[in-house]
Amino acid sequence: MDISRRRYGGRTELKSPSSDVGFHANRVIERCRQLARITDVAGETTRTFLSPAARQCMETVKSWMEAAGLVVYIDAVGNLRGLYEATQTGAPRLMIGSHLDTVPNAGAFDGVLGVMLGLALIEMLDGKRLPYAIELVGFSEEEGVRFGTPFIGSRALVGRIDDQLLSTTDAEGTSVHQAIANFGISAELSSAALDEQAKAYLEFHIEQGPVLESEGLALGIVEAIVGQTRGEMRFVGSANHAGTTPMHLRHDALAAAAQWIGEVERYALETKGLVATVGRLGVLPGAGNVIAGEVTASLDVRHANDAIRTSSVYHLAAEAERIAHGRGLSAEWRILMEQRAVAMDAHLTKMAEAAVIDAEAAPFRMMSGAGHDAMVIAERLPSAMIFLRSPGGLSHHPDEAVRQEDVACALAAGLAFLRKFDTTAVMN
Ligand SMILES: [Zn+2]
Repeated sequence: MDISRRRYGGRTELKSPSSDVGFHANRVIERCRQLARITDVAGETTRTFLSPAARQCMETVKSWMEAAGLVVYIDAVGNLRGLYEATQTGAPRLMIGSHLDTVPNAGAFDGVLGVMLGLALIEMLDGKRLPYAIELVGFSEEEGVRFGTPFIGSRALVGRIDDQLLSTTDAEGTSVHQAIANFGISAELSSAALDEQAKAYLEFHIEQGPVLESEGLALGIVEAIVGQTRGEMRFVGSANHAGTTPMHLRHDALAAAAQWIGEVERYALETKGLVATVGRLGVLPGAGNVIAGEVTASLDVRHANDAIRTSSVYHLAAEAERIAHGRGLSAEWRILMEQRAVAMDAHLTKMAEAAVIDAEAAPFRMMSGAGHDAMVIAERLPSAMIFLRSPGGLSHHPDEAVRQEDVACALAAGLAFLRKFDTTAVMN
């Protein structure tokens, strides 16, 4: 590739005005804002899997992709897929993507930004063909809102849609299988699988957290998506009268839970990279004048290292038992969900890091505390992720934002990544 550059205003820019990163950054943001107005619920941004708004969003993005020279189709689970051909047909393929669905009352940038950045990178090539093809994907489902199961879009690409998932129903009793048929899709599920020419996957996404902002940085290079354990701790004591039961004769399940929650926070603060959260309490009988007899407390534990996560969960469960026994109560631990950590590809991540340096940004490496499509695609393809700073650390909220200069920086890094992308290296 011979995309020539000049340094301008401390940032990498291309010579042709149509390839100016500032212009394209503005357009990326305008497009995200435009798509945010396509919604199933008036007055907010809500687009769930295969909803009417999802269709309208797909049609809008499809028209932009076609104008940029991509050959576009909607696959068997409603993913929007566009191929920007290489200089030769049958060339290796770089996948770039993120998701087009949203949580209820979402912001404008979660997911959509990654798709619009991929599109802008192709537009900045100005019709020039590369030795490899680029496949741009807008995943139809990542958030898990409609069916309570996330990643339906990316799971189809790695062949992980099974009968159990297809028969899962939404609040109206419509199954995934029926929703796909209702949308007018009749393609075989297997046809959504990754093309054998696909060699690597790159995803841009807002951080959805406060780390980059607190570091004063535009971009972050994701090393791994953390693993997580979700479960429930149940403390059982005895309910009794709040007035007639002396303090030393109580078996207060809520007091035990409170002591444990303090221990969860203390332990996570002391364990590097660990986040542990008790976000929900169920208190029985739940009256102001009755000592709590039973408390269920949720626990969400995440770490990039599975062994540290597992031993932390073990420790916190043991602490609950210790606290419970000391108070004459019992504690029971139940695991509801476990997800292993997923590392991004070392080679591709190095390439992303070099690209970020080329864009004159600091090469800051970080973990992703949230799941992303890259986590699923990484099962089959070397994958890399670049985060953009989230102003205020805010996401899944209508005020979710992104800075124009960070989008410009991401575009400069993306162009550098395209220049560096070495298909032979990822094929080996
Ligand atoms: Zn997202």
